[in-house]
Amino acid sequence: MKTTTLDGGSVEILTEMLDNLKMRLRGQVIFEGGPGYDESRTVWNAMIDKKPSIVVRCLGSADVIECVKFAKEYSLLLSIKGGGHNIAGLATTDGGMMLDMSLMRGIWVDSKEKIAYAQAGCLLGDLDRETQLTGLAPVLGFISTTGIAGLTLGGGFGYLTRRWGWTSDNIASMNLVTAEGRLVRASNDENEDLFWGLRGGGGNFGIVTSIDYLLYPVGPEIIGGMVVWPISEAPGVFELYRNLAGNAPYELSLGMIIRRAPGVPWLPKEVHGQLIVAILACYSGNPEEGVKVVAPIKSFGRSIGDIMTRRPYLQMQSLLDSTQPKSRRNYWKSEYLSGIESALGEKLITHAAKITSPHSSMILFQIEGALNNMEDGFSATGNRNAQYVLTQAGSWEKEEDDNLNIEWAREAWNDMKSFSTGGNYINFQTEDEGSERMEAALGKGLQRLVSIKAKWDPGNMFRSNRNIKPD
Ligand SMILES: Cc1cc2nc3c(=O)[nH]c(=O)nc-3n(C[C@H](O)[C@H](O)[C@H](O)COP(=O)(O)OP(=O)(O)OC[C@H]3O[C@@H](n4cnc5c(N)ncnc54)[C@H](O)[C@@H]3O)c2cc1C
Repeated sequence: MKTTTLDGGSVEILTEMLDNLKMRLRGQVIFEGGPGYDESRTVWNAMIDKKPSIVVRCLGSADVIECVKFAKEYSLLLSIKGGGHNIAGLATTDGGMMLDMSLMRGIWVDSKEKIAYAQAGCLLGDLDRETQLTGLAPVLGFISTTGIAGLTLGGGFGYLTRRWGWTSDNIASMNLVTAEGRLVRASNDENEDLFWGLRGGGGNFGIVTSIDYLLYPVGPEIIGGMVVWPISEAPGVFELYRNLAGNAPYELSLGMIIRRAPGVPWLPKEVHGQLIVAILACYSGNPEEGVKVVAPIKSFGRSIGDIMTRRPYLQMQSLLDSTQPKSRRNYWKSEYLSGIESALGEKLITHAAKITSPHSSMILFQIEGALNNMEDGFSATGNRNAQYVLTQAGSWEKEEDDNLNIEWAREAWNDMKSFSTGGNYINFQTEDEGSERMEAALGKGLQRLVSIKAKWDPGNMFRSNRNIKPD
């Protein structure tokens, strides 16, 4: 079978070579047409439709080591799939070898030490479920089906970021398989350079097999949800958001979303498909205090829907899942902002009026807090001046609508990027974003990442990622 090599050529992998690999593995090897192949090869963004030649569903670090050795022996192009949520589709390649980590989902929670040990194929929801059993939580993102590995290696933010920083700021250690096929541990006491690079530098240095997360007391109940108004109220809602976010305690995370109303039962039928503006909030401290903190949102203007209430933290962590299903076409543009200028409101409303797809949205989310208080070089994620993430998230169903929706996201981004810190979130970059955007995302840390790459992966074996070249 022809398999793509690192230099873009191909090599014939014979049946006996594959038999030899299979004998060394616990996990399954699958090929096009075989059961599970399509499930493994497809990713969240339907714009990416690639077909790897060999897929291995690893069942542990030993399998990963055997795969690295095999890929190395034949110089195969290797990709790693965590949750498959990367919008650029970096988990898969045409004709290469893919390691699907989705069966490595073991978790062990040490509630005394407040650390969760998670295998790298876990999804966010797996980790939240297990840690909430003892009233603890790691710092993760909003959609429970996202993979922990891609999110953490690229930075990571969510409702707890204001209190504790980027996800990658809250890691005790990681295990990974290097380009030499060695299992090594990275922490502040062991392979410190690698540990620094792994926290923001993506999958450039090896295949992570487990991640140890610092945990914090959260929940089991919080105050969270959203309040929705018609778009006519957007100027007032934007000012409310700006004022509240400017003075909010770190326990409160606030987002503002503009989109067309989904057909959910808690919004009146007559607004379905119409433009709306919403404030998304999660108060992760004491719920009694939270009720007071979110009161100005609930009482503002004439809202048309309100699901902001006391609820389990676990429920909050999957509240938006249904808005982000696998297999739609998606194109995003995103920037970090260091504050919100009032002029941004007008621009948001102007570009919202041009949204055609019922699934697209503009999202402004506050991350200001702990991450700004850490020193610049704390981890490779950097961007210590970022206080908000602004994202134009184009999402639609049909290929023939690609141009229209991509243009919408680009036009809005072009018009608003003057508000940016100059940095952007590497995990939100699309397939067409090049080295300039990567440099902007990694900033001053990039030079250090290049030297870490040169030490740990001098042959650039791990290149199906936001690739940092070793020279
Ligand atoms: C609907 C949606 C919601 C999102 N919400 C948030 C959010 O709230 N907060 C946030 O910070 N981000 C969010 N993201 C962005 C998300 O962090 C990135 O898409 C991330 O890449 C997803 O990780 P994954 O494991 O699912 O991705 P994958 O596509 O599986 O992998 C992404 C990259 O990581 C590499 N990788 C994966 N596993 C490993 C491993 N074990 N070892 C080495 N490299 C590995 C892959 O090779 C690839 O380069 C969201 C994305 C989507 C699509």
